[in-house]
Amino acid sequence: MIRTRFAPSPTGHLHIGSARTALFNWLFARHHRGVFILRIEDTDQARSTEESTRAILESMKWMGLDWDEGPYFQSRRTAIYREHVDKLLGEGKAYRCYCDPDHLEELRKQALARGDKPKYPGTCRDLTDVHPDRPFAIRFKAPREGRTDVHDLIKGHVVFDNAELDDLVICRRDGTPTYNFVVVVDDVTMGITHIIRGDDHLNNTPRQILLYQAFNYPLPAFAHMSLTLGTDRARLSKRHGATSVMAYREMGYLPEALNNFIVRLGWSCGDQEIFSTAELIDKFSLEHVGKSAGVFNVDKLNWLNAHYIKQESDERMAQMLVPFLQKKGYAPDGSLDLVKVVRGLKERSKTLEEMAEKASFYFKDTLTYNPDAAAKFLTAPMADVFAEMIHHVESTGATDENELEAVFKRMQVERGLSLKQLAQGHRVALTGETASPGIYEVMAALGKEKVVRRLREAMAFIKSAGT
Ligand code: GLU
Repeated sequence: MIRTRFAPSPTGHLHIGSARTALFNWLFARHHRGVFILRIEDTDQARSTEESTRAILESMKWMGLDWDEGPYFQSRRTAIYREHVDKLLGEGKAYRCYCDPDHLEELRKQALARGDKPKYPGTCRDLTDVHPDRPFAIRFKAPREGRTDVHDLIKGHVVFDNAELDDLVICRRDGTPTYNFVVVVDDVTMGITHIIRGDDHLNNTPRQILLYQAFNYPLPAFAHMSLTLGTDRARLSKRHGATSVMAYREMGYLPEALNNFIVRLGWSCGDQEIFSTAELIDKFSLEHVGKSAGVFNVDKLNWLNAHYIKQESDERMAQMLVPFLQKKGYAPDGSLDLVKVVRGLKERSKTLEEMAEKASFYFKDTLTYNPDAAAKFLTAPMADVFAEMIHHVESTGATDENELEAVFKRMQVERGLSLKQLAQGHRVALTGETASPGIYEVMAALGKEKVVRRLREAMAFIKSAGT
C-alpha cells in the first residue's frame, strides 16, 4: 500500500511550488489507490501560525486535494519524538553534548573564515560520564567514514560522503527535537512509503537515511523535484507576481486550470497539455517528472484558464462569478439572468475577474457612453428605431433571442438600415460601448425592464445632443 504525505511548514500562504509538491503526492497516492497524508510541520513555534495552517488547508480544499489522514501536527507529537531520542541514547547511537553553544558558534565562524565547512569537533562524542546538572543537547553519532547513497526516483543515484555529514543535533538544549529528526520519526511512524518533495531537501536526505539506519527502519523511496522558476529562470518569488494559491483564486482562476498548469511544471505526458483530474490520476507517474526546473509562464496559465472557463457549465460559472461581482460593488439579484450574462462572456474572458469587469455594464445604474461610439451610433434616426423596439419589448413582454433577431431583420427591410447600424446603435444604447457579447444575448440577459429603461435613456440622450 502506497502512502505519501504533504508536510508544509505553516509559515505563510500555500506557495505555488509547495502546491505542486502537494499535487504530485496526491496524484501519486490516488494513481496507486494509496493513502495521502497531511502533516503540519509546526515545530518552529516562532514562525508557525494558525492562520497559515488555515490558509494552507483552505488552498488544498480549493484545489481538490483531499487527504485521507491528518492533519497531524508535529507540535502535538512530542512524546513520540522523546521516545525515539531516548532509544538512540540508550543504544549509544546518540550522545549528550555539553559544549557551550557560544564556543561552538565561535568555531563555526572561524571555519567559515578559513573557507572550511563548519563541523562539530566531536568533543563529547565519546564521553561516557553523565553530568545531570549541566545543560546538554543530544547529537546523533553519525558514521565518519563511508558514503551514503540516495537512489532518487527523479534525480537518480546521488552519493554523499559521510565525512561531510556532521553529528547532527537531534534534540536542542531546551529539549525540543530538531527538524531532520522529527521528519524521520514522523515518516516512519506514519508508514510513508514514498517521500516526494522539493530538491531543496536533497541535502537533508543522507542525514535522514543515516537515522533510518540507526533505527533499523526500512528506507522509503525518495523523489526530489526541481524547483519552479520564473521566466527569467530565477527561483519563483514575489518579484514574478503572485506566488500563493489563494492569490490565483482571488484573481479568478479555476482550480482545474491551476492544477493543470501546476502539474505541467515538471511532469509531461507526450505533447498533451490539457488533462482532466481523472486523466491526471490515471496517467501520473514519477518516471515522467523531469529533472529540469519548470518555468512559470503566466500566459500559459491564462490560456488554460480561458479553456476551462469556456468548457465549464454556464450555471457553475454564474455561481463562481458572484463573489467577483460583489467585489466590484454589484449585488446580483434575480432581476438579471446571470446564466445568460455568463454565456455571452465565457468565450471572451481569461479570468473570472476579467469576466466581472466585462459584465459591469449589466449592473450599472446609469451607463456612460463611450463618446466616439455615441457620436457615431446614437444618431437621430436611431431614436425612432429605439421607440419601435421599446414598443415591441413592452408589448410582447419578452426578450427572446430568436424573436429579437426577427425584429432586427424586419427593421432592416422596413427602414433600409444595415444590420451593423442597428446592432451597434442598440449596443451603445444598452452597454455604452461598441464591443460586447451578441446583441440578442445582451438584451435577453438584461431583461425587459432594463432594456426599455436604457433605450429610453438613449432616446433622451439623442434628443439632448441634438444630432
Ligand atoms: N516542512 C518542509 C517544507 O515545508 C517539508 C519537509 C519534507 O517534505 O520532508 O519544506
